[in-house]
Amino acid sequence: MAKGSHIFHMMLNWVLPERCPCCGTITAAGGPFCVSCWQKLEFMGPPWCRGCAAPFDFDRGADAYCAACIANPPRHDGIRAAVKYDDLSARVALRLKYGGKIGLARVIAQQLLRHVPDETDQVIITPVPLHWTRIWSRSFNQSALIGKQLAALTGITFVPDILLRHKRTPSMRGLDHKRRRQAVGSAFTLHPKYKGKLKGRKIILIDDVLTTGATSDGCVAVLKRGGVSWVQIFCWARALRSGKTQADAGVSFDA
Ligand SMILES: [Zn+2]
Ligand SMILES: [Zn+2]
Repeated sequence: MAKGSHIFHMMLNWVLPERCPCCGTITAAGGPFCVSCWQKLEFMGPPWCRGCAAPFDFDRGADAYCAACIANPPRHDGIRAAVKYDDLSARVALRLKYGGKIGLARVIAQQLLRHVPDETDQVIITPVPLHWTRIWSRSFNQSALIGKQLAALTGITFVPDILLRHKRTPSMRGLDHKRRRQAVGSAFTLHPKYKGKLKGRKIILIDDVLTTGATSDGCVAVLKRGGVSWVQIFCWARALRSGKTQADAGVSFDA
């Protein structure tokens, strides 16, 4: 698509009547999703594991960890997803990623607002970076678009280039957890201009969809090595491992 035409389509996405990002029907003013899809989307919130935010069936208290987090404490300080990953929410993510539906980034950011911590003094929003060849073919980073919108809604500083991605991550299919970690672990580095400048800062790391968590985990590792004291991963949709089984085995303790 020529550049001018691309911009024209982006503008159309803003100007045309609101359409439900899941099914495409025109929605009534006041809500981005149609009533049917809104009811089908599984919005995520507490009660959940303090570590990975896997949902609990009942409230175990704000300090409760699931069995998986106790066995293998995560590097991050929480995952905050707007909705559970399923066919419906995947469609929203794909429309943003490949359909050029830039306005969707704002819709997603609005759904993440409720997860933003009260205290945002030292907080910076930054996206999981794309490899430059992907930006070149797609012309934007969908996670950066969401981050920018969330920053606009909250007044939190948005810094798009804290992390650099060096290589295209190979397909993860068939790799176990450890191999996935290794595959993405060396893909990210801190941008040299931020070296030594992130001590004590807190980061909201934006990813569009979180499936295995290997990619964001690679980013969290780099950020923490760079002095960042707290990283929460914010995403539109999140895949949950084997339903509720991991949360079911959860126990509660004070950390
Ligand atoms: Zn709909
Ligand atoms: Zn957990």
